[in-house]
Amino acid sequence: MSDLLNRRSFVTATAAAGVGAALVGPAAAAADKPALLGGKRTRSQSFPAWPVMDTREEKVILATLRSGKWYRGGGQHVDKFEEAYARLTGAKCCIATNGGTTALVAALGALGIGPGDEVIVTPYTFIATVTAIMMHYALPIFVDIDPETFQIDPAKIEAAITDRTAAILPVHIGGNVANLDAILAVAKKHNLPVIEDACQAHMAEWRGRKVGTCGTTGCFSFQVTKNLPSGEGGAILTNDHALAEKIYAFHCNCRARTVSSYNFTYMPTRAANFRMTEFQGALLNAQMTRLEQYARTRDENAKYLTSLLGDIPGLCPVKMYEGCTRNAWHLYMFRYQADTFAKLPRDRFLQALNAEGIPSGGGYTPVPWETFLKESFATRGARRVFSEEALDRWPERCRVPEHQKLCHEAVWFTQNMLIGPRSDMDQIAEAIRKIHAHAGALLKS
Ligand SMILES: *Cc1c(COP(=O)(O)O)cnc(C)c1O
Repeated sequence: MSDLLNRRSFVTATAAAGVGAALVGPAAAAADKPALLGGKRTRSQSFPAWPVMDTREEKVILATLRSGKWYRGGGQHVDKFEEAYARLTGAKCCIATNGGTTALVAALGALGIGPGDEVIVTPYTFIATVTAIMMHYALPIFVDIDPETFQIDPAKIEAAITDRTAAILPVHIGGNVANLDAILAVAKKHNLPVIEDACQAHMAEWRGRKVGTCGTTGCFSFQVTKNLPSGEGGAILTNDHALAEKIYAFHCNCRARTVSSYNFTYMPTRAANFRMTEFQGALLNAQMTRLEQYARTRDENAKYLTSLLGDIPGLCPVKMYEGCTRNAWHLYMFRYQADTFAKLPRDRFLQALNAEGIPSGGGYTPVPWETFLKESFATRGARRVFSEEALDRWPERCRVPEHQKLCHEAVWFTQNMLIGPRSDMDQIAEAIRKIHAHAGALLKS
C-alpha cells in the first residue's frame, strides 16, 4: 500500500514539476529493487493464455463428434480449411497435413529429395526442420545466420552448393522473414527448389506477398503453440498444380485425388498417411476467425516494444529486411549483451526477468550437430548412402559461429505475450530497465 502511495505521489510530483512522463517509468523502476533481490515484482498477473477458444470451437467440435465424420473423406472441414487458407494466402493450392514436420517431409518427398542428397538449411531453427531432411536420408548442410535478422545468411548459400544439393530450405524463424529475394535468385541460378519453412510465420509477408507462396512450396504448422493452432496440424502451399497432386499422393499413401473413393489410382512416389482429421479442420476454421486480428495486435505491440527496448543499452531487437512487409512475431527475439549489464550473464538476466513476472527464455541451444548427426547416421542404411569420408567432412562444412553466438545471447518472448494491451509492453520494458539499473547488485547476489 505505502509502495503504491509513494509511487502515486512521485508521479504527481514529477508531473507538477513539468518533468516528462517518459522519465517516470525508468526513474520509478530504478527506485525499486529487483524481485530477485527481495523487491516487488513488476507484474503479478499472467500474460494472455494460449490457445484462445470460445463457443465457436465448442460447437464445431461437438458437431463433428456427433456427425461421426471424423475422417477427411467423410466430412467437409478439411476441404473447407484448405480452400480458405489458400484464399487467405493467395496460394493456388493447399494440402492440409497432420503436422508441420510431416508437411516438410511430404514437400521434400514430393520434390524427389532422397538418399544422398544435400539440403541447405539454417541451423537457427526448431529441430523438426532438420529431422524432416534426415527422414529422407538426405544430409542437412548448415549455412550460418545473419546476426542482425537471425535468418539464414543469403550471402553464404552459394558457397555451400555442390552437385549433390537438391533444395534450399530457409526458415522464417520467429515469424520474421528470410531474405527471399536473395534466396530465390541463388536458387534460380542453380535450378534448385526452395521449400519455405513457414511453421512460425502465418500471415507474414515478403513485399506484400504471404510467405509460403514465394518459394516452390511453403510449409506451416498448427501445433498448439503456433499462431494458428489446432493441437497438431500442418499445411503445404504451392502454386504448382502438378506438384500439389504429388504432395497430395505423398500424404495419402500414393493415392491420387479421386472422385469415387474406391476407384483408386496411385502415383509413383513414396508415401505415408499424413492426413489431417476433421476435428483439426473444424478447429482451424474457427481459429481462423481470429487470425488477422491477433496478427495486427502482435505487430502493433512488437513495434512498440522495439521502440522501448531500443532505448536500453545492450539490447538489440531482431531486425527485418527491407522486403519484409509483415512480421508474424511468433517470437519476439532480441540479443542481450552482458557487457552493458555489468557483465550479468544472460541466464541470470533471464532468472531476474522471470522473477519480475515476465516469462522469457534463451531460445534454441546449439545442437551438437557433429555428434548428433553422426550418431543418427551410424546405421546400416545410412552407411550405404554416405561414405565415411562424407560424414567426416560434414562438420567442417557446417561451421556456424554466428549461430553459436546467437544461441548464447538470444532472449525470447512467446507470441501470446503480444496479444494483450499495450501496457503489457510498458511492463516488460520497465522490468528490463529495473534489471539494468541493478545489474551490478544482481551480479554480486
Ligand atoms: C513447429 C515447427 C516445425 C514442426 O511443426 P510440428 O507441427 O510441430 O510438427 C517445423 N519447423 C519450425 C520452424 C517449427 O517452428
